[in-house]
Amino acid sequence: MSIFQKSIGPIFVKEDSDTSAFIVKMKGLSAEASPRIKEEIDKQIKLASYGETGEKNIAFELKNSGLDMYILHDIYLEHEDLSAQIDYLIICRKKVYILECKNLVGDIEVDSNGQFTRKYEINGKKYKESIYSPITQNERHMNVIKEVRKSSKSNFVTKQIFLSNFEKGYQSIVVLANPKSCLNDKYAKKEIKQKVIRADQLVAFIKKCESECDEPEYFEKDMKDLAEFYLSKSIPNKSDYSKKYEEFLKIEKDNVVKAQNNEEQICPKCGSKLVLRTARTGQYAGKQFYGCSGYPNCKYIQNICL
Ligand SMILES: [Zn+2]
Repeated sequence: MSIFQKSIGPIFVKEDSDTSAFIVKMKGLSAEASPRIKEEIDKQIKLASYGETGEKNIAFELKNSGLDMYILHDIYLEHEDLSAQIDYLIICRKKVYILECKNLVGDIEVDSNGQFTRKYEINGKKYKESIYSPITQNERHMNVIKEVRKSSKSNFVTKQIFLSNFEKGYQSIVVLANPKSCLNDKYAKKEIKQKVIRADQLVAFIKKCESECDEPEYFEKDMKDLAEFYLSKSIPNKSDYSKKYEEFLKIEKDNVVKAQNNEEQICPKCGSKLVLRTARTGQYAGKQFYGCSGYPNCKYIQNICL
């Protein structure tokens, strides 16, 4: 930091997130759901809780960084048909950092094509899934930011100046926020490796970027104005992922009534008809239950044994 400017330290302009609210809502749904749906809801709760912990790790690192920064957590921006949910937007003296936090459970592997895979375990059950590249994802966020900010510029010249400086002034960072997850990127290309860091490297990484950047420093007022600009552009995120499960539960309740009236029941997961089946093995052998007619593609079982 320049000796001409007094230190302001890290300032949180927005600190709350939608994750906590999501967890509370999902816990309510879990209490009412049938076992199959409950299993899925509980898995989502667990993942969201890991996410919440991961984001708190990032907040902790930033708060203790001693760096001058204005921090916005969990903002949602839209420009025409583009949208971006941004985990952290950090305005430092020289640059603006756009963080995509991956609070992934398990081990992350990045291959030579930049493909991300994660392996994790929940309740002894092993899962392996390929995930959408967080680097590509954050590049799309950067694009939305670019458009949003550009449209605030009043004329052609200022728009062009902004665009030509964007690459220098805005930095994308993917942060792996879970300290327990291993990152295996030995086959990944160098430019991919440089864009993915762990939470405990974040502050050092920002310091390095700031010292290597030869752009002029922002005054505190500019940092504050920029933070307020993005805060004013942030709108409530309309996609509520708990809605899907709310809908499942509603269909299950309707099915109970339909079963009593001998009406056709619908699978809450895929919309196929439910059909009466008899359990052949296990502790319920010989008992009847409603299962999805889409089996084996859909393994939904209605929790009613007649
Ligand atoms: Zn189904």
